[in-house]
Amino acid sequence: LKKRLLIPGPTEIDPEIAAAAARPMIGHRGPEMVELLQTTLPRVQRLLNTTNSVYPLACSATGAMEATIRNAAPGRFLHLVCGAFGQRWSEIRAACGQPGDDLAVEWGQASAPAALREQLQKDAYVAVTLVHNETSTGVLNPLAELAQVVRSQSDALLCVDTVSSMGAVELQLDRWGVDVCLAGTQKALALAPGLTLCAVSQRALARSEAAPSKGVYFDFLTHERSLAKWQTPATPAIAQLFQLQLQMQRIEREGLAARYARHAAMRDRTLAFGEAHGMVPFAAAGARSVTVTTLRSGGRDLAALLSRARERGIILGSGYGKTKGDVFRVGHMGEWTVAELNEVLSMLDEELGRMAVG
Ligand code: PLP
Repeated sequence: LKKRLLIPGPTEIDPEIAAAAARPMIGHRGPEMVELLQTTLPRVQRLLNTTNSVYPLACSATGAMEATIRNAAPGRFLHLVCGAFGQRWSEIRAACGQPGDDLAVEWGQASAPAALREQLQKDAYVAVTLVHNETSTGVLNPLAELAQVVRSQSDALLCVDTVSSMGAVELQLDRWGVDVCLAGTQKALALAPGLTLCAVSQRALARSEAAPSKGVYFDFLTHERSLAKWQTPATPAIAQLFQLQLQMQRIEREGLAARYARHAAMRDRTLAFGEAHGMVPFAAAGARSVTVTTLRSGGRDLAALLSRARERGIILGSGYGKTKGDVFRVGHMGEWTVAELNEVLSMLDEELGRMAVG
């Protein structure tokens, strides 16, 4: 049985990319590492439209979120929350002993620029955190608009989780004034998990100078100093960097416009599938993600639906956090194409045809 991974990350890995991780190992203090980073990180900067440094952190995205909080502290943080990962920023900040406020919307809705403007006029913050694509609800936030509000209303650092949007949606870090942008590479970049890319602005580095309790591993300044020599402070995730080197070349070959259009087409195709089966999307109209579609079951037994799919080799995502039990999630990102998605969705059509609607 061919297994097809359609959870919202980790996602399918191209065989050529998988093989890249098996290349002969290199030393991380030798010229091979310099060449690896030199040929890879500038491509990531081009993807993000930024001149900010990109650190290849050997941790999952949660580690980079904690790094961001520690380097921006001390002070009051504002967290835009529209799902579980927006909430995670707030939890990490509290665990790091810093004060903060959550600006929450109902799950399924996008964060609103007007409410953000109002909050920034009321209180001063050292940093605003937000999640570009909220994987738990399938909501894509209006990042350009939210960033414009932060930049025009405050000096706060703008810290953005692009875990499930980087590589699937256009990012304009410099134009939008994003200070920290982070993403694990197992989502739309379609690598094995374990590597997180973190783009950090000069403003964020200046703030880091004054941060009192950064610890060692996540101090942005040590990463900056190492990067000046095309190195990392500690041993990097070399196998994933081999994959990233190749993947950035493949992404350039595909072309960014084509890549982004492919993701939007997969979103549209999945929404049409849902509509055909009376499955109402969980995410509000106009805010629906191009990498993860969250659908209600349309009166079907959700557990039965997921297990029938699994019997056909199709691994779908369940709900996450508050949405567990209410929805299922289809991750369509990275290597997936509309043609492959069509195959999977017609298998699901067959299964749904055999299921009772309550
Ligand atoms: N942020 C978002 C939007 C995510 O989707 C995830 C994981 O799914 C994370 C953060 C946390 O990533 P990790 O579990 O790799 O630390």
